Amino acid sequence: MTETEIKDRLVQILDAQRVLDDEATLARFGVDQTECDPVTPLMVVQPLTTEEVQSLVRFAAEHAIPLTPRVAGTNLGGLAIPAPGGLVLDLTRMNRILEVNQQDMYAVIEPGVTFAQIKEHLDSQGIDLVMGYPLSPPWTSVLINCLLDGLSNLSLRHGSMAEWLSGVEAVLGDGSLVVTGSRVVTHSWHGRPPLPDLTGLFVSFQGTTGIVTKGAVQLQPRRPFRCREFVMTYDRKTTYRAMRELARLGIHDDIGGLSWPTGKMLFGISEPGPKDPGEPEFFLYLDTTGNTAQELELRRAMTVDYIEDLRRQGHPLEDPVAIETLCRLNSRFEKFADFPTHLDFLTENPGGGLTWMGTYGPMSHFDEAADRGVAIQAKHGFAPTLVSRPMKGGHYGVLRWIMLFNHGDPLDTSRVRACQEELLDMILELGFVMYKTPVWAINRIRDRYDPGFVRLFDAVRKIMDPQGILNPDKYPLGKSS
Ligand SMILES: Cc1cc2nc3c(=O)[nH]c(=O)nc-3n(C[C@H](O)[C@H](O)[C@H](O)COP(=O)(O)OP(=O)(O)OC[C@H]3O[C@@H](n4cnc5c(N)ncnc54)[C@H](O)[C@@H]3O)c2cc1C
Repeated sequence: MTETEIKDRLVQILDAQRVLDDEATLARFGVDQTECDPVTPLMVVQPLTTEEVQSLVRFAAEHAIPLTPRVAGTNLGGLAIPAPGGLVLDLTRMNRILEVNQQDMYAVIEPGVTFAQIKEHLDSQGIDLVMGYPLSPPWTSVLINCLLDGLSNLSLRHGSMAEWLSGVEAVLGDGSLVVTGSRVVTHSWHGRPPLPDLTGLFVSFQGTTGIVTKGAVQLQPRRPFRCREFVMTYDRKTTYRAMRELARLGIHDDIGGLSWPTGKMLFGISEPGPKDPGEPEFFLYLDTTGNTAQELELRRAMTVDYIEDLRRQGHPLEDPVAIETLCRLNSRFEKFADFPTHLDFLTENPGGGLTWMGTYGPMSHFDEAADRGVAIQAKHGFAPTLVSRPMKGGHYGVLRWIMLFNHGDPLDTSRVRACQEELLDMILELGFVMYKTPVWAINRIRDRYDPGFVRLFDAVRKIMDPQGILNPDKYPLGKSS
């Protein structure tokens, strides 16, 4: 089929305004902030309904045209970069909040619904429920963050965002429609158990098994009393010990740690270093909530007791400081006052490039992984920019090494990639798994995957996408890759 014929058919399925092939649009949809190579798509299409997505998928399957779904393109793994000659399915306009069930605490949403949008909706409607927010820009997709096993400011209590999904509606590679979760046999979208859990077939598959057109996401009760505090710590050992122990105590909604270069970046220094003498190593942030003022105060008092105890044992850390106090000292702290937030010092750094090694792994190995990781960063000329967080009560945790670089500069790109490769080899050795895994990483570690897993993975993908058109070059495992 010629390009003109393809465009004519797409215009028949949608309309001319929603089939884009101008140079600027194609360039915008072919790239992300990472070191992954850009690829210019053939066209960008903007469906509004599930039926339109089905028609587009049927057409693409008939003519073996690759399709890459995309919302904000902020995954930082090259996962929404299209396949050569392919179409990008820009889903930003499928952005309806279809239902908020206040009693059963879930929302049914389309993939284009953003974190800013759901917060605005819940707040403006006076709904006593909240969403978990990542540090992603406010315009990223709620549903995609769930599908990518993302992490949010309520992941300490509730685990990765995929656990919040209670079912999806998705278009498979032949254009057929499937629903998962309790909605399969009832009118309700409340949960996944006790049905066989087919929702997982869409989680962390990076859009290669189906295009999710609707999803039910759990919401959590809004507790009326809350505070966010920061604790300065002076070594990594103390920070991680506190994270592990506080996670078990169950006092907080969220615990996270940002290493000193993040603090400097917040104030506009894109290449931080060296550390000033006396500067804290980490900023530990603690979110605490209560149903009553007394409950909140009790939780805060427990935190202070814990910190004093650690200090008595010789560990260097300060008392908690409320975010409001920090904001009064410097308004840049407002970036951490309310979520979702736009961390512009990362997304709009002067070099334009942003990438990371983001991992989930055993908290027992945080100290060694962090020490070895920052040594690798230093070797490649990067400041020790670490973000850490316990997940699901401390059953596992996040370690993420962030790198800012000059996007499009081949020398800097190879420096970043070399650093990423060394980090990847190291984290696997210590039991950590890279999330939102880019193609280069899977190619590097493909021999480590269990062969039975690869066979099943490949078979599943063939059933769900027989023509291999859905984001085809991503997660390259198995024969069909
Ligand atoms: C500054 C910054 C901070 C961040 N902080 C966090 C954080 O704290 N926690 C966190 O989890 N993430 C974080 N991220 C990463 C990112 O924001 C999330 O991964 C986000 O969920 C991606 O959403 P998106 O709309 O950008 O998806 P996209 O990048 O557009 O798409 C991601 C993947 O999903 C696929 N996809 C898109 N739509 C569909 C669909 N309908 N069905 C199936 N597959 C689909 C795409 O093909 C692609 O493979 C951060 C990113 C930045 C830039």
